[in-house]
Amino acid sequence: MNRFSPALVRPTRPLSPALVDRFAAVVGERYAVTDQADLAPFLVEDRGLYQGRSALLLRPGTTAEVAAICRIAHETETAIVPQGGNSGLVGGQTAHHGEVILSLRRLDRVREVDVTSNTMICEAGVVLAMAQAAAVEADRLFPLSLGAEGTCTIGGNLATNAGGTAAVRYGTARDLCLGLEVVMPDGSILNGLTKLKKDNTGYDLRDLFIGSEGTLGVITAAVLKLFPKPRSVETALIGLDSPRAALDLLTLMQATAGPSLTSFELIAAICFDFVVRHGPGLRLPMTSSHPWYVLAELSSTRDSETGTMEAVLANSIELGLIGDAVIASSDAQRRQLWTIREMISEVQKHEGGSIKHDISVPISAVPDFIEAANAEVARLIPAARPVIFGHLGDGNLHYNVSQPAARDPKLAKETFLARWYDVQHRVHEIVGEFGGSISAEHGVGVMKRDELNRVKDPTAMTLMRSLKNAIDPLNILNPGKVV
Ligand code: FAD
Ligand code: ZN
Repeated sequence: MNRFSPALVRPTRPLSPALVDRFAAVVGERYAVTDQADLAPFLVEDRGLYQGRSALLLRPGTTAEVAAICRIAHETETAIVPQGGNSGLVGGQTAHHGEVILSLRRLDRVREVDVTSNTMICEAGVVLAMAQAAAVEADRLFPLSLGAEGTCTIGGNLATNAGGTAAVRYGTARDLCLGLEVVMPDGSILNGLTKLKKDNTGYDLRDLFIGSEGTLGVITAAVLKLFPKPRSVETALIGLDSPRAALDLLTLMQATAGPSLTSFELIAAICFDFVVRHGPGLRLPMTSSHPWYVLAELSSTRDSETGTMEAVLANSIELGLIGDAVIASSDAQRRQLWTIREMISEVQKHEGGSIKHDISVPISAVPDFIEAANAEVARLIPAARPVIFGHLGDGNLHYNVSQPAARDPKLAKETFLARWYDVQHRVHEIVGEFGGSISAEHGVGVMKRDELNRVKDPTAMTLMRSLKNAIDPLNILNPGKVV
């Protein structure tokens, strides 16, 4: 089910055998895939929400090969879709119109780790977990952390400006990058692999490509920031009554722990009900149940810095902010808490259809947003079940709505998903009323392109289209995405 207006995209011409040969000559026969069975995994994404089609997948191994591919694409006006780990959630990496798929996964070298500058140069196809491991090997931390870290790539993370669970402390992918190497749609190479913190020599081109979702250039390598490795980590699961109580706890934790606050995730009880029901042998390590939970983590570079979590939680109980809490007493327990959190998206599938939103509002507005959105969803589909979780520390919620529990789940799923736009439209209107964003971290892709037109400042849209037109005048790079 493709949720966008195909009419806005020029149809892709079939590739001639001669053109396929030209592309294949760049990467070698082995890495120019035309067999549909081999192409299949690159055409679908995990949730089965989007199904692409393509006659050719190219798997270059160097920046020079990427540049040669773009030169041919430019000369022949052939549309290309860059793809990393294919874990994107908005259909940005899918070839919806028969475009050539350009997979960056073979660009998987860590070119350099510089512990004095605290930087690391990774090629675009380095899987995030591998980048994290390379940092650990050098006794450093690369702090970007998300559920898909075993499959998503550095190129994809930067192209989507991924957020994740440690953004409250370290920022989003944008904040973790100093420089980029990018192949432009005409095949020229922008060498911006700088380690400089300070460089005011004109427009910030790096930030233009970060978050551009493969529509302006192909990221081939990046200079990433490294941080001191935490020596002590404290993780707690906390039960409480309301998002407002969670917000008060956030304020208290920030005041007490300062920059040690690394994660602050808000989770509605229904999320854990789903995890316990469908997760593989998972259970909540807390005897009492609560309407809401917070998964919070403090970390410090000092070995002995523990006890802060306990002190904050004791204070919170005294103030009546929280009901109950467990602090992980081992790394295995910590991992278990994070597994439960990371299973939420996965287990939601077993409860039928889900209408998803990835929104942000000012942190102070989160409780009022939840109240307003829940009321509106209940008005539209009375028995629908809001399944709310997300990064409260960033004002970012995955405001998902699961279908009503029904006897015939399949039938209910279709009827329910037919209301996707009604629900999304109203939820996004409420986001707008609170001064929020309809895409906090997953991007626009095709899923939110039409919606973006509706909600974004018209001058901003005009500027974005002008930039796209100036950089990719033939519209060959990821056409039909974002703008
Ligand atoms: P892909 O899915 O392959 O591509 C995503 C977009 O980037 C596409 O538009 C593609 O064209 C473009 N692109 C990819 N590589 C390049 C490149 N080298 N140059 C130019 N453009 C490129 N996201 C978050 O932000 N926070 C989360 O907490 C989070 N959790 C997730 C949990 C799960 C279980 C899953 C499945 C996804 C989650 N995501 C999350 C979404 C996703 O993982 C991120 O968007 C990730 O950054 C995408 O990386 P990727 O390599 O898979 O990119
Ligand atoms: Zn998220």
